Amino acid sequence: MKIAVLTSGGDAPGMNACVRAVVRSAINSGFEAYGVFDGYKGLVEGKIKKFDRNDVGQILNRGGTILGSSRLESFKEESVRKIAVDNLSALGIENLVCIGGDGTYRGAMALNDMGINCIAIPGTIDNDIPSTEFTIGFFTALDTAIDAIDKLRDTSFSHQRCTVVEVMGRNCGDLSIFSGIATGAEIVITKDTGYHEEDILKQVAKAEKVGKRHLILVVAENITDVSKLAKKIQANSSYEARASVLGYIQRGGTPSAFDRILASKMGVHAVDLLKKGMSGYAIYTKSLDVGHIELEKALIVEVRPSDLYQYLCKLN
Ligand code: ADP
Repeated sequence: MKIAVLTSGGDAPGMNACVRAVVRSAINSGFEAYGVFDGYKGLVEGKIKKFDRNDVGQILNRGGTILGSSRLESFKEESVRKIAVDNLSALGIENLVCIGGDGTYRGAMALNDMGINCIAIPGTIDNDIPSTEFTIGFFTALDTAIDAIDKLRDTSFSHQRCTVVEVMGRNCGDLSIFSGIATGAEIVITKDTGYHEEDILKQVAKAEKVGKRHLILVVAENITDVSKLAKKIQANSSYEARASVLGYIQRGGTPSAFDRILASKMGVHAVDLLKKGMSGYAIYTKSLDVGHIELEKALIVEVRPSDLYQYLCKLN
């Protein structure tokens, strides 16, 4: 029994922790483990290497992906995927774990239909996979965005500015809304809120009226040109306005505690499914809801995380 693992699409902090979890738990479950380099491109080019447990040592805390990633448009063609399937079959590999975003999921679905047992794991900073509450990398990217916005806030306050910050997320506004809440931004604009320039100028005018010394405005990428928006705000208010695009710094960096643990749990779960002969599944998490419980039951009913030890056992 053999399992290969690959990372594909945009890299995300925590992908390495997930690769480690897949390889270690696969070996601990009696599989042979293989790493595929450079995503689906490497799969087609036969860049597949047998891994032992030490090949994934010292990577849990590293950003990016040691396996490398790539984009291969032609993987949408069955004839190209057939080469990948043949490369796996030649090595006797029946199982594949694909870590990535929505494109990676589509690739995994197509490979699963062609007879390779696939499991997809959500790895993207964008948090744009509908079936999971959070993706691996999201919270690390969020920490990076928050840190940058906190720094911008210092100058924003000193110089009485309206600071317009563009945050990543492709077509998903989660990084923007979460960082907006965590940094106390006055205005957050995403695809969900819609882009209405007149409304934004009205909100800025209102802030001016209540005596706000400065403003933070977070805008999700692919919504508008933030430099033009800043100029417009400056022309229509007493604030000096500046735009900052955070860009790719949000994709890198040491994975946060949450992403390391989420990645480890998801990797182990993927292997557990394959061991049971289950394929064609995507891993998800759903956990951070806020709710309420009668106070008299609050010290009795157990909802604290209690199952982590079983994961730890499979990761070493
Ligand atoms: P992400 O996985 O981060 O969303 P992409 O959208 O670039 O990144 O997808 C990663 C790769 O997945 C693509 O380069 C391509 O090789 C593969 N892929 C995307 N869509 C499909 C599809 N419909 N069928 C097969 N493979 C696909």
